[in-house]
Amino acid sequence: MSAVNNKVVYMDNNATTQVAPEVVEAMMGYLTEQYGNPSSMHTFGGVVGDEISKARKQVADFLGAEPEEITFTSCGTESDSTAILSALRTSPEKRHVITTRVEHPAVKSLCENLEVATGQKYRVTRLKVDSEGVLDMAEYEAALSDETAIVSVMWANNETGVIYPVEEMARMARQRGVLFHTDAVQAVGKIPINLKELDVDFLSLSGHKLHAPKGVGVLYIKRGTQFVPFLTGGHQEHGRRGGTENVASIIGLGRACELAGEKMVEENGRVKALRDRLEEGLLASVPKSMLNGHKTDRLPNTANISFEFVEGEAILLHMNQHNICASSGSACTSGSLEPSHVLRAMGVPFTAAHGSIRFSLSVYNSEEDVDFVLEKMPAIIDSLRKMSPFWEE
Ligand SMILES: *Cc1c(COP(=O)(O)O)cnc(C)c1O
Repeated sequence: MSAVNNKVVYMDNNATTQVAPEVVEAMMGYLTEQYGNPSSMHTFGGVVGDEISKARKQVADFLGAEPEEITFTSCGTESDSTAILSALRTSPEKRHVITTRVEHPAVKSLCENLEVATGQKYRVTRLKVDSEGVLDMAEYEAALSDETAIVSVMWANNETGVIYPVEEMARMARQRGVLFHTDAVQAVGKIPINLKELDVDFLSLSGHKLHAPKGVGVLYIKRGTQFVPFLTGGHQEHGRRGGTENVASIIGLGRACELAGEKMVEENGRVKALRDRLEEGLLASVPKSMLNGHKTDRLPNTANISFEFVEGEAILLHMNQHNICASSGSACTSGSLEPSHVLRAMGVPFTAAHGSIRFSLSVYNSEEDVDFVLEKMPAIIDSLRKMSPFWEE
């Protein structure tokens, strides 16, 4: 289904995803007749509470966790903040945080605030990455200390798709008695995750990156890990997160996890084949184009490609005229003329970082979508380069 039929070719799934029809169906009754409050004593509310328990189990099963380890939140950002702030409050004597230079703004801004807003009460180590976006494990090992309260490392990068060795990093943190959080918002549903085996204390995920609605997330808190809530209020979520539950969205997220569990291996294989064809086609047909991020240790749906000597924003506008949706770097960093912090951390040259486009696919993309983009892109880049003062044939 493509722009051929005046439809949108949507390749911006790392920004947000279409809500799956099965998810909408699961939610619908809870936006209409079943409007009870799950905390109420009456049966009318109680049945809604049962559905939340079911959703909690669906999420837990998908992650290899126990239902009691799952707390529903309002978004991935809330989950990230909750995990990191909890660790700082449960070990107040520790004033050091380890993270990376390529985190999503949800973690990046929080860490900046920890330093600035507290008058440098906290020290933050931001691990370097190489030109492929890969971390230096020796630097990580050296950074871990008795003063470290928590390590927060994303499972997969939203801009490049590069996957980080969370399993090994969590084990190393555990050996030093340091809590470990991972922002797995981009990883969940795209690569297998089984928390049972891992030394991960906290994991964040977000509904709208996983074909569930916007405005719902999960924080996994490992059994036995000390925890202090971020939002206090009522006794919802076993006292871990106050506020009346976003019932329909929670039910939708449960169903989305169930769907992902049923179809993940098969569907992600198909998505990867589409992504690979798109990526190889673009690199072959557009001169001076290059891939940003590790070739193989990468999410199956993401291709971040730089087209040298053109502006990403200009490329996006031209793509938009053909109803093709993608991002330049990251939706959160576009709007400013600075190249994304992720590409800068990787040392991508300025002329290439400015012309970077992130294509992020989903199970709803088709062969025709890829054909259409492969057909349009070379001419778009060529026409823009002809206008660029830096471009010489
Ligand atoms: C989208 C995203 C978030 C934020 O999730 P929200 O639910 O939009 O707050 C956090 N981390 C990563 C890696 C993301 O891609």
